[in-house]
Amino acid sequence: MTHKILVSDDDIKLVAFLQERIKDRRFQFILALSLEQVIEQLENEDFFAAIVDFNVEDRCGKKLFEYILEKKIPTIVTLDELTLEAYDQITNYSIIDYVIDNNYAGKYYLADLLQGLEYFNNKKVLICYDNKSPQKLHSLVQTFHSLLFEPMLATSIKEAKSILGKEDFIKLIYIDADLKDGKGVDFCREIKENIKYKDTLIFAGAQNKTNLIQIKELRGKFYKSGVVNFISLPVDKEEFNTNLLSMMKIIKQKNRLDTYVETVDKYVLISITNLKGIIVYASDAFCKISGYSKEELIGKSHNIIRHPDMSSSLYKELWETIQLGKVWSGEIKNKKKNGEYYWVSAKVEPIYDSVGEIMGYQSIRFDITDKKLVEELSLKDSLLGIYNRRKFTEILNYQFTIWNRFKNEFSIIFIDIDDFKVVNDLYGHSVGDRVLMEFSSVVSKAIRDVDSICRWGGEEFVVICPYTDLNGAQNLAEKIRKEIEENEFDIIGEKTASFGVTTIKSGDTIESFIDRADNALYKAKTAGKNRVVTF
Ligand code: GH3
Ligand code: MG
Ligand code: MG
Repeated sequence: MTHKILVSDDDIKLVAFLQERIKDRRFQFILALSLEQVIEQLENEDFFAAIVDFNVEDRCGKKLFEYILEKKIPTIVTLDELTLEAYDQITNYSIIDYVIDNNYAGKYYLADLLQGLEYFNNKKVLICYDNKSPQKLHSLVQTFHSLLFEPMLATSIKEAKSILGKEDFIKLIYIDADLKDGKGVDFCREIKENIKYKDTLIFAGAQNKTNLIQIKELRGKFYKSGVVNFISLPVDKEEFNTNLLSMMKIIKQKNRLDTYVETVDKYVLISITNLKGIIVYASDAFCKISGYSKEELIGKSHNIIRHPDMSSSLYKELWETIQLGKVWSGEIKNKKKNGEYYWVSAKVEPIYDSVGEIMGYQSIRFDITDKKLVEELSLKDSLLGIYNRRKFTEILNYQFTIWNRFKNEFSIIFIDIDDFKVVNDLYGHSVGDRVLMEFSSVVSKAIRDVDSICRWGGEEFVVICPYTDLNGAQNLAEKIRKEIEENEFDIIGEKTASFGVTTIKSGDTIESFIDRADNALYKAKTAGKNRVVTF
């Protein structure tokens, strides 16, 4: 819905200023400077409000201004300067407010006022007052009206409670201090105790009494019971509008912040810990992915989500980084409550207290489980579930780099099943596949945790053995050879394999290293198979 604002002010920059300041496309400003233009506009369009320069009088008498007011358009008057004479004249009209717009402060106020009107428009305000003195409240009701509120009147606390029971959207309540059927202060406290009204603003007020002590006491009591403003009647419109607008600004900002926080909580995986790594905050999204409730997470150590696959050195590095006040980022595998896992790309950073000391750590993460799954699949052999040649190359390159730098020896074992063609020829391809599965499982069990088995291709395998010299690799190969030899394969019974073993040497390239292992394997084959040859 758009709010059309009729602007009859010859400050040509005013509209541009308001558009820039308000930044709300729902406001549409339409200029009409002459009486004819104003008449034409008002005949054709419905206006939400009007901004009228009081000095347009100079051009066409009061006619233009009064015409707009007659049409019951809520009007804000702009003035270059406030003289007593102008003040007297303006305050006789039923306008929203006046603004001195020859300076920025005035223009800002005008923008706030327009946004206030948009916010207050048709909002219900409950006015609790004493039936016996309605004339005192006239100015208050008028003021609320002029700000586009919809006042609802209750002449007793009982009536006020009944209205509150029926109406859901009362965000503003005025309680008159002179209520006869009970204490306004008590009513005020009662409302504040109800969580439903935690965002409801309560105003209180009393007739401008001559007894200052009495007024002071009343004000004190009301302020201590949760009212945000205590007004003297008749209303001082200037003060009232300014107060209400600044409260509106705070409320709007709070609402905006609440929405942001809600959105972030819902969609972003966030947790905050204290200095000891005890969880003090967990977003809904984080609870959802981890399978824990907020209650289950808060107060627990962050270790609760740690997956055993992640090395201690990674966590050590993480803690060292954040304790130094730096940001740590990386990919972490986390454990869900049900034991499943998920991968996240995480950023962990310190959060600081008001004096700049680290008070805890915040972690923001994104779920990258799918990406990791694709990555894992692309590195594994689809038949055997062990690493493929691509992953082998990756591990080998890594070992080679480490060796170049630290001269940590490492070895590889090439394995080729003996006379595998016969299996396929005698039993068919699918039995051949099953033998390959059993074979890779026997080898996987025989090797150590630090070793990796990869499918080189066909019925050939390669084992990478970090921190292992030729002798160690030879022993391992011999152990594997024996276990294969002794294994009773399903359907086909016995099967053997040949092994080519080598260790990295200075002057090696990756190619020369692999060639040597390949040659050793070739030699094992030509020397009669079912044996280990080292080069
Ligand atoms: P050698 O002792 O000299 O190694 O003899 P071999 O019969 O094992 O000969 P070679 O290693 O050259 O033969 C590999 C055979 O393995 C050829 C191919 O049909 C079979 N093979 C390769 N990959 C697969 C597979 O995924 N499944 C099955 N069933 N057979 C495969
Ligand atoms: Mg082969
Ligand atoms: Mg073979």
